[in-house]
Amino acid sequence: MSAKWGVDWVARNSGRVGDPPPPPDPLAVPAVDAHCHLDLMDTPVAEAVAAARAVGITRMVTVGVDLETSRWQAEIAAAHPEVWAAVAIHPNEAASGVDEATFEAIAKLARADGVVAVGETGLDYFRTPPERHAAQQESFRRHIAIAKETGRALMIHDREAHDDTLRILAAEGAPERVVFHAFSGDAAMARTCADAGYVMSFAGNVTFKNAGELRAAAAVAPRDLLLVETDAPYLTPAPWRGRPGGPYLVPLTLRLLAQTRGEQVDDLAAAVAANAERTFGPW
Ligand SMILES: [Zn+2]
Repeated sequence: MSAKWGVDWVARNSGRVGDPPPPPDPLAVPAVDAHCHLDLMDTPVAEAVAAARAVGITRMVTVGVDLETSRWQAEIAAAHPEVWAAVAIHPNEAASGVDEATFEAIAKLARADGVVAVGETGLDYFRTPPERHAAQQESFRRHIAIAKETGRALMIHDREAHDDTLRILAAEGAPERVVFHAFSGDAAMARTCADAGYVMSFAGNVTFKNAGELRAAAAVAPRDLLLVETDAPYLTPAPWRGRPGGPYLVPLTLRLLAQTRGEQVDDLAAAVAANAERTFGPW
């Protein structure tokens, strides 16, 4: 594990307390976890994959936050047929500047078998002071270029930076496939993303009591632009908020999304599986 502050930041803020939650009832129709961090879980990868399979989560995308963790995700994806990788320098890491060799290494890694996305990249104005926004924006631009060069999906981390994220995407020219991971906008933002054809991936925080605005966004997101994710080990869904999460908890968030949208769980599971294949596949 890197000693750089970005990764330490991730580990320090995981909020993992207590035992892993029990497995939810299995899905009848298999679905996909569009974003997790298998390297940050206490569970070995083979066990995390088996636990997910047991409840109908047959595929997952594991996401790097710096060069070292991106390499790890790519290796894991190469070794496990259920696992795909995303590679990038996280915006919080990029805020202190990224050198040319690192961008080149990410671009090379993005072309590897089993790597399906460039991410997570984007902007995080919650964690980043204004004097570091320029470096973060430059890294975002470079990752957009890498996604276009390599034909991979772009996986965006946007925290309290909606306007600049959308503006830079439009200015640079968005790649064909764009995913807003752990979507955090309101219904208006969801409509903007829908108009642009951006995919919205909802994480466990959509289940939280105070997440009314996020549920309103989830209700208006078009079904063919919707994904579900855990961001495990973070954002563990209710009623297990604060516990260590894993891809096996996707059914809890999927069921809440179905209820919010007035849809059948099986139909939504089939839709997110198809959307994931269109975004990250074919597989
Ligand atoms: Zn993440």
